[in-house]
Amino acid sequence: MTPEEQKKAFEAELYTWVGKEIAPPTPGLDLVNEAMIRHWCEVMGDTNPVYTDKAFAANSSKGGLIAPPTMLQAWSMEGYPMAFADTQDPSTMDGQRKLHRFMEDHGFTGVLGTNCDQEYIRDLKPGDTVIAHTKIHSISEEKATGMGTGYFIETRTEFTDQNKALVGTMLFRVLKFKPAQAPKPVAEGAAAENKAPTRSKSVRGHDNAWWWDQVEKNKVLPIQRCKSCSTLRHPPRPFCNQCQSGEWDFITSKLEGEIFSFVELHYPEIPGYTYPLMCAVITLDEGTRILSNVIDCKPEDVQIGKRVKGEVMQVDVDNVLPQFRLV
Ligand SMILES: [Zn+2]
Repeated sequence: MTPEEQKKAFEAELYTWVGKEIAPPTPGLDLVNEAMIRHWCEVMGDTNPVYTDKAFAANSSKGGLIAPPTMLQAWSMEGYPMAFADTQDPSTMDGQRKLHRFMEDHGFTGVLGTNCDQEYIRDLKPGDTVIAHTKIHSISEEKATGMGTGYFIETRTEFTDQNKALVGTMLFRVLKFKPAQAPKPVAEGAAAENKAPTRSKSVRGHDNAWWWDQVEKNKVLPIQRCKSCSTLRHPPRPFCNQCQSGEWDFITSKLEGEIFSFVELHYPEIPGYTYPLMCAVITLDEGTRILSNVIDCKPEDVQIGKRVKGEVMQVDVDNVLPQFRLV
């Protein structure tokens, strides 16, 4: 088949998805409830008392607690397991994932959410059931975008309640695309073509360039010290927050300390970084803290309070960084 014919065959199958329901109507895992409403309001910083204050809500025009309208989709989401959907058995996948898998098999591996329009028809109250009915609403013609060439896929969800009444709708649009090749840096020329991906370079400015100079040229971890009161500080900044002096020098850390906090980064894996990727806040014996990596270890061995010893090292062709190992 010529590329033209291949595209025609691909699109013929692609457009058969339009109008299909992606899954049987899905009732939410939980009824609309006060606990989830409170968590949402805390996270979003929404202090409207009609969502959380029973007495206030009872005396308001709403006549009782309601859920924030923007929680509409939250009531029918499938929860934490959706984070692992990529490894799901295709026979049990919903239609949207099957469609995405079909496109991935044809090179459209990128996905980007582009639009979400919601319409709220009635307030949801604790005790309501929310049921999502989702169809593939439309698929665009092939589009060339900054991200690469792809298709906009729009799903339309109707949310109904326990009485089969419509309570809201949502149009959700994603771009499923073939990632464009990153342009090659012109100045670096041919050498750049074979260069392995590197970590993103940290931002340098007036207040911290000296710190990076010490790290990169002298392979040491400097800690800024107030010349007036000797208080140590990190990250670098122009003034001492104890005595406001702008005079400073620095000491060199012995690169020993303990883990104050840590996280294992899983997803998305970023080119240039080695996984498993353990990021930790280290309390140095000098007293300041630094965000760094714990390397050459099993993730399960990293624990708060464990001793670490650091080394300032070349992590890739562009970057020198302090890195720590468990002692
Ligand atoms: Zn000071």
